[in-house]
Amino acid sequence: MSNCAIVGINWGDEGKGRMVDLLTDSYDVVVRYQGGGNAGHTVINDMGRFALHLLPSGIFRKGVVNVLGNGVALDPENLFKEISEISGKGIAITPENLKISDRAPILFPWHRLLDELEEKRLADKKFGSTKQGIAPYYSDKYAKKTILAGELIHSDALYDQIREITEWKNLSIERIYGEQPVKIETVAEWVNNYCTKIKDYICDTGEYLRAAEKAGKRILFEAQLGALRDIDYGIHPYTTSSNTIAAYAPIGAGAPEMKIDRVVGVVKAYSTCVGEGPFVSEMFGDEAAFLRNAGGEYGAKTGRPRRVGAFDVVATRYGTRTQGATEIALTKLDILSSLDKIPVCVSYDVNGKITRDFPFPSLLDKAEPVIEYFDGWKTDISEIRSFDDLPAEAQKYVLFIEKSIDCKISYVSVGAERESIIIR
Ligand code: GDP
Repeated sequence: MSNCAIVGINWGDEGKGRMVDLLTDSYDVVVRYQGGGNAGHTVINDMGRFALHLLPSGIFRKGVVNVLGNGVALDPENLFKEISEISGKGIAITPENLKISDRAPILFPWHRLLDELEEKRLADKKFGSTKQGIAPYYSDKYAKKTILAGELIHSDALYDQIREITEWKNLSIERIYGEQPVKIETVAEWVNNYCTKIKDYICDTGEYLRAAEKAGKRILFEAQLGALRDIDYGIHPYTTSSNTIAAYAPIGAGAPEMKIDRVVGVVKAYSTCVGEGPFVSEMFGDEAAFLRNAGGEYGAKTGRPRRVGAFDVVATRYGTRTQGATEIALTKLDILSSLDKIPVCVSYDVNGKITRDFPFPSLLDKAEPVIEYFDGWKTDISEIRSFDDLPAEAQKYVLFIEKSIDCKISYVSVGAERESIIIR
């Protein structure tokens, strides 16, 4: 059981970073295989509190090698800033412990610009983009209109490539959005400023991973966001622009032939969702504000308040299946400790039909939550380390979730700290 993926089952922010930080102890390599700096993991460990956007969470462990695969939206500017910030806190980041895929396309400043211009154009119809350039970036990737990281090393006509691509991009900037064109010299300077700073980390990550696997190294794949944001299987069009599911991990890492033996799906004990889109079990008013504050539900990257809701059996069953989760880590159970009654969305009512099957995305607007209430436990559980020591009501809640999503819950997290975990 050497290869493991840690993935989000819902809308993201499930606490994946915390689980990766815990499990990296048993792994030698941590790989990010999709997404960009548009979300973030929060990791709290003995070195402090860190918001990671692009760097894999294994960066804090000595001896762990971290990989940014070709599926990642490689933003050299933000990555360089993140490396500087974290190494400034005394954590060594070198080509020995960070490897960037030569096949990762580069995210250029115009991707962020176009994201912003498109959100402005959409005005009140906007999707709630984090304006990190992710959608324009992936569009260009599939249109083959970008430059691969490896070109920084291998190309002897890099400036010509930059000129061509800038001229092409300016067509959109000027003609669609009526903005001033980007100057080629500015882009070349940006490449000099940031791309050269990450050059030493660039390599063939597939070759590295194959050798690592052959040498018996244990590999952990780390995803951003969750199944419901997957470009193919999520709540279209309120998805991200990449595949967040475990099945994509080997492809986005650089070694498509690799097998994943273990998929740990991370699920929060209640629901949260950032940005626009259908969110069937959403709670409002004082009830929502209470849970949001108790859980500190504000975006790691943007500080935006997250929408909060009841645990959603329908969405979580779907996410568990889509991820092919072999086990579940249930996080933030401690946050529910102060509730008298805990709401759970057990099914949806879609046009008068009760269902536990996740509907086609456009039908989600018509879905009403069917809510049942569980008794709260009203005791601090953050110091508990054994399942049997949890109050009976908390055990009942966990077992209900396990049964309703038909997947073993092997971890119950009762605090943000590394050791605040119950292993079953
Ligand atoms: P990710 O992107 O899935 O890693 O999610 P976030 O970075 O949003 O992580 C969720 C937040 O909850 C972070 O601030 C974590 O430190 C915190 N957290 C994770 N698990 C627990 C838990 O079991 N209890 C509490 N109280 N906080 C947790």
